[in-house]
Amino acid sequence: MKKLTKRNENYSKWYNEIILRANIAEKSDVRGCMIIKPYGFSIWEKIKSILDNILKYTGHENVYFPLLIPKSYFSKEYNHIKGFAKECAIISHYRLKNYKNKNIIVDKSSKLEDELIVRPTSETIIWNSYKRWINSYRDLPILFNQWANIIRWERRTRFFLRTSEFLWQEGHTAHSTKKEAINQAKKILNIYTNVLENFIAIPVIQGIKTYSEKFAGAEKTYCIESIMQDGKSLQIATSHFLGQNFSKAFDVRYSTEKGNKEYVWATSWGISTRLIGAIIMTHSDDNGLILPPKIAPIQIVIIPVYKTQEQLNLIEKLVFPLKKFLEKRGINIKYDKRIYYTPGWKFNEYEIKGIPLRITIGKKDIDRGTVEVVRRDTLEKKYISINKLKFLIPKILSQIQDNIFKVALKRKNNFLIEVDSYEEFIEKIKKNSGFLFAHWDGSSETEKKIKVETNATIRCIPINLKKNIGKCIFSKNLSKQRVLFAKSY
Ligand code: AMP
Repeated sequence: MKKLTKRNENYSKWYNEIILRANIAEKSDVRGCMIIKPYGFSIWEKIKSILDNILKYTGHENVYFPLLIPKSYFSKEYNHIKGFAKECAIISHYRLKNYKNKNIIVDKSSKLEDELIVRPTSETIIWNSYKRWINSYRDLPILFNQWANIIRWERRTRFFLRTSEFLWQEGHTAHSTKKEAINQAKKILNIYTNVLENFIAIPVIQGIKTYSEKFAGAEKTYCIESIMQDGKSLQIATSHFLGQNFSKAFDVRYSTEKGNKEYVWATSWGISTRLIGAIIMTHSDDNGLILPPKIAPIQIVIIPVYKTQEQLNLIEKLVFPLKKFLEKRGINIKYDKRIYYTPGWKFNEYEIKGIPLRITIGKKDIDRGTVEVVRRDTLEKKYISINKLKFLIPKILSQIQDNIFKVALKRKNNFLIEVDSYEEFIEKIKKNSGFLFAHWDGSSETEKKIKVETNATIRCIPINLKKNIGKCIFSKNLSKQRVLFAKSY
């Protein structure tokens, strides 16, 4: 079987090849939209179920709003429409004609009076309903979440990282005080960080977006950023404090305990199928995908090596109870005894697909009382005694999870470089050297000039960091703290 392109030869080609060869997704005929195949979708389902459980456990409820938003709703929040105007898909007609001779054309007489926008995000349609649902302080807080698809007419698309249609969850909450809404936005950032680091094994940096990078319609955008193996940064998720922008736009007021009328405070937050791209770009190697066991749809594959039915019977006498024992403990196992593929073909297939652990059992192994176990993360091969197998496997899976995180953490820390001069900054950014931690004077003008000259953007102003005064690398003006610059996806 043909080997994958190596990361250091062509990182982008390597990324696309993994997606195709591991059967995660493929291109569709629709511009910027992909087809997510069963294996890719099952990774998304795993992530979705982890996050969904945490959100429910922390008091959030799932809802569903229409895909189509009346254009008139959009015009109500100026910054929001300004930010999304260039990425909207619009439905202006609802009927076709001349279909009998296959020459289909839009029936111009079916023009919609209020055109519909395919949701690029749902703040407007949701706040239009909150107006009816919120009257008193007793109706607050509202903690709603929606799992949905989104259309943003992106110009430059790339599998998972940036697609015109993507899947995500979007949370939309309403609160009686500013403090409560800010705490909610921060709480969600911590939930995302927990999912990323403890389940998906991707270390992140928490921060705040600059004024020019914040969400259209937000007062403040909190984010988590991570670094990919090629030294480029990726925005993993965002959590917005929306202030009273949407409650004012849709006139959503509540009466306080004292009977005054006040505008409601809001947040919104989202994480998307971009995560699958982040997983591939962070963990995988030149042999294919590497998946942390906690999000792997198949955690172990067992491959029997046999020539006769008699040998297979013997192997299965061992495999079936082992499989049952481990499945009872929540471990997902695939037993692949297909005869029309050789064991070698299967080894390659599961390596590309990133199955964390591979167990091979043959007649000779049974005679010896051991089986061959191969870890996908380190490719380390071990012979483990059959008697100890069922107790050692959960331990090995947990070691794999920890190791994958450790490798990514080490890389992230190596990619975090303090830079004090603009010359050094330019030199490093040319080589995609990762996160450059540099002083900035806080002005959008400086930010823009650096972006134009180097193609690097401020990924975030890190939070939980001591303020440290210095001089801006570009303007030499006073800087209150270092910020993270990088080239990004
Ligand atoms: P936003 O609503 O713009 O703050 O986006 C929320 C999250 O959605 C981002 O942090 C990304 O993870 C993700 N996202 C935004 N645009 C895209 C896109 N075109 N394709 C995939 N994911 C996206």
